[in-house]
Amino acid sequence: MHKRNLVLLFLLVFIVGCTPKATPIVMPTPSQTQRPEPSTETPEPSLTPTKLKTATPASTPTQAWVRRGPGIVHCTILLYHHVAISPIESQYYIHPENFASQMKALDDWGYTPIPLSLLVKAIKEGAELPQKPIIISFDDGRLDIYENAFPIMEEYGYPGVFYIISGGLGDQGLVGVDELQEMAAAGWEIGSHSHSHADLSKIRKEASYREVVSSRDVLEEALGFPITSFAYPFGTITETAGKQIHIADYESAAGLGHTDSQGPGNLFYLQRRPISWDYDLKRFAIVLGWEGPLSTVETPVP
Ligand SMILES: [Zn+2]
Repeated sequence: MHKRNLVLLFLLVFIVGCTPKATPIVMPTPSQTQRPEPSTETPEPSLTPTKLKTATPASTPTQAWVRRGPGIVHCTILLYHHVAISPIESQYYIHPENFASQMKALDDWGYTPIPLSLLVKAIKEGAELPQKPIIISFDDGRLDIYENAFPIMEEYGYPGVFYIISGGLGDQGLVGVDELQEMAAAGWEIGSHSHSHADLSKIRKEASYREVVSSRDVLEEALGFPITSFAYPFGTITETAGKQIHIADYESAAGLGHTDSQGPGNLFYLQRRPISWDYDLKRFAIVLGWEGPLSTVETPVP
């Protein structure tokens, strides 16, 4: 072999030897995005398919989880109403592309969506939680949450908490039993958001009983599993409703608020942060208390 060929061969071997074994750097599309494997795990055997059919549930415990509680636990609870293109200009409608970029941002910024029941357990008796836990909740039982938000969250394995108006189950534009069964099977939690979405401060005690206590029975009978959380319509709590929450034996209840501080003192008025239609990722990051760089390129909303 000529000396020149030998040099070329040597160079080729050197280049190949230096090429990192990692997969090429490609910007993941949402459908390709997988939860990053914890560094403490052993590599997958080579025969294991590298692409899973469904994402690993985000709330699967890893060694990086830390014990929190009992007592006050810091966990932002996001609140959405619609994930759809708004027919009217409404703060309650989050554009699906905007929602998708928010879910990607949670992943990029290291947040781990957890079930509400895990937060409640941490507050009451202590539990292992991810470093940056977050809860994604939805009020009013809109069908667009099933159609638009649920598939996006499924790509990341995120669980959600869906508060349903029991009197509207299956009505036009609202989810029914089939959708909720499917979501529950995927790890979502279903709560009551009253029977008719009445403002609890403007109705009599008997009517309030139906909204708070009976709504739980209606949902449990329809769905066949326990309903353990309530969300106050309009975030309004009254003394009567507060007592009825305990008569109904809910484990927690959700309201509105401005902090991520959840604890025994507000277990029945958990602080939730409503996300408005006009929030860009910078505003979203402020809600989360994220102080790092905004690593996600924002998807403009048309
Ligand atoms: Zn509502």
